[in-house]
Amino acid sequence: DNIPVITIDGPSGAGKGTVSKVIADRLGWHFLDSGAIYRVLALATVHHDIDPLDEDSVEPLASFLDVHFKSSPDSDVTHVILEGEDVTTAIRNEKIGAVASKVASLPRVREALLRRQRAFKEAPGLVADGRDMGTVVFKNAQIKIFLSASAEERAKRRYLQLKDTDPSVKIEHLLSDIQARDERDSNRSVAPLIPADDALVIDSTNLSIEEVVDQVFNYMQETF
Ligand code: C5P
Repeated sequence: DNIPVITIDGPSGAGKGTVSKVIADRLGWHFLDSGAIYRVLALATVHHDIDPLDEDSVEPLASFLDVHFKSSPDSDVTHVILEGEDVTTAIRNEKIGAVASKVASLPRVREALLRRQRAFKEAPGLVADGRDMGTVVFKNAQIKIFLSASAEERAKRRYLQLKDTDPSVKIEHLLSDIQARDERDSNRSVAPLIPADDALVIDSTNLSIEEVVDQVFNYMQETF
């Protein structure tokens, strides 16, 4: 098939989510937030009281995971539904992020989620946000971006997002969480967080969202 795919990979806090959504909206393409799938699976392990590192238990849960995404035309929030329950906000905390990175380290679990992620590739095109979109899930994507930023900058961005809802949040805790998660995501044996050979690497430490989006669109124009 020749449905175009743009993959945007990188560590958490690099701005991937926002950048991917802006690009998908402007192009009128579909959007895959693959991290949300790992987060939903993480929440399901909590609900079912399953050890997130017990591959024999997590694999069937991943295969039969009853999850769907509901976007409504009058809001830019995509609702995430797990087993009939709206878990859109429940999956967005640091604790679930940490559990997600545990289930994501299991090879058979990643394998079980491949087909589900590839099903998002539909006309007129897809923007896929994650860690291994360009290296594993959509290896043949025409445009691959690897978006990074220093750990300090990512902790600062996360702090600004959280401080209003959680006044007790500490920037140094966020930084150590980010460093621990980077370490786990970069050093796992399957689908480690590394740029694809053919990816354009963008360091967003000193760039705004708009500047990153511009760089991606310029790169697209050169490529297509
Ligand atoms: O991107 P987000 O922070 O929502 O992802 C949560 C966790 O899911 C990541 O820390 C990572 O361990 C895992 N993940 C992954 N592969 C992806 C997307 C997310 O391993 N494609």
